[in-house]
Amino acid sequence: MRITRIETFLVPPRWLLCRVETDEGVVGWGEPVVEGRAATVRAAVEELSDLLLGEDPTAIEHHWQRLTKAAFYRGGPVLSSAVAGLDQALWDIAGKRLGVPVYRLLGGPVRDRVRVYGWVGGDDPAQLGEAVAARVEAGLTAVKMNAAGVVSRSPTAREIDAVVDRLAQVRAVLGEDRDVAVDFHGRFNAAAARRVLPLLEPLRPMFVEEPVLPEYGHLLADVVRSSPVPIATGERLYSRGDFLPALQAGIAVAQPDLSHAGGISEVRRIAALAETYDTLLAPHCPLGPVALAASLQVAFATPNFLIQEQSIGIHYNQDAELLDYVVDTGVFAFPDGHMRRGEAPGLGIEVDEAAVRAADRAGHRWRPPVWSHDDGSFAEW
Ligand SMILES: [Mg+2]
Repeated sequence: MRITRIETFLVPPRWLLCRVETDEGVVGWGEPVVEGRAATVRAAVEELSDLLLGEDPTAIEHHWQRLTKAAFYRGGPVLSSAVAGLDQALWDIAGKRLGVPVYRLLGGPVRDRVRVYGWVGGDDPAQLGEAVAARVEAGLTAVKMNAAGVVSRSPTAREIDAVVDRLAQVRAVLGEDRDVAVDFHGRFNAAAARRVLPLLEPLRPMFVEEPVLPEYGHLLADVVRSSPVPIATGERLYSRGDFLPALQAGIAVAQPDLSHAGGISEVRRIAALAETYDTLLAPHCPLGPVALAASLQVAFATPNFLIQEQSIGIHYNQDAELLDYVVDTGVFAFPDGHMRRGEAPGLGIEVDEAAVRAADRAGHRWRPPVWSHDDGSFAEW
């Protein structure tokens, strides 16, 4: 079996898919994207295709080594995301060729269903109660919210109280049997994060995410030590090497993204590394159907898995939804807050190729919002 063609598709709302074709008719799909830089990753995939065309797609690890290392300069979000999508597609091909789901190639299932959470409140969480009630009605047992919208690096008393009040509002709707996670998005500085975290503990959030920006990883251990709330991070880390300092800092939850951190191959290794620190895996995935399918395959086969993010109904999806690009949307149903393990081969989904090709003709130019503080200076989104 040889790889004969690699195509990419820029599909709304903000994703990039890749399709890897072989001479035996087996086709694999991947999602090589970093949000806001889809066109850049598309160019990286095109460059990397030189290493794959004409090759046996089932030598996945061999390809991963070459894709990540052969150009001498390594790592970072763009290259790691390009490799991630291609890696997903190679695993999809390997599973389809053997007629088995990818999780069976990863050692077989350790669970029958995967708990998922959904977003509430958007970027600027104002009216949360109704949003949470709708999520509970849809079946979810866990949600995630932003701590604040535009907020001072060193927040005022009113800003701090607002964070606590919004979490209390969500907890009141959820009750004690469901979970809420809070994303700081690196919007506070480290000292402010240390100040706010203990105030949230009485409301027992599942975890607080990105209490500091990735570039302040050297401060993460101080934040973890000062926090009674479990700390999560990882959507902006791209490899085992990136995760090691965060694990050594004592994070409770590792959040690699299957489309940013080197794909199924590398996230499996990050999960194993995390296990040696008694850290749980909660893959980041506000992305499309292939990224979610790859995440689920890892979740089915990974013992230290905690919960899966998924983007159905997320605030970014204005004009398209991940369910628009799969033939059988039932694989992503979560009637009791969990997605079920199936036996479909490869990544376990059938991509609606006609829908993908049509969407690519429209394309997108999604960018994250650029926020400012009251004085006009740059604010973290
Ligand atoms: Mg986040």
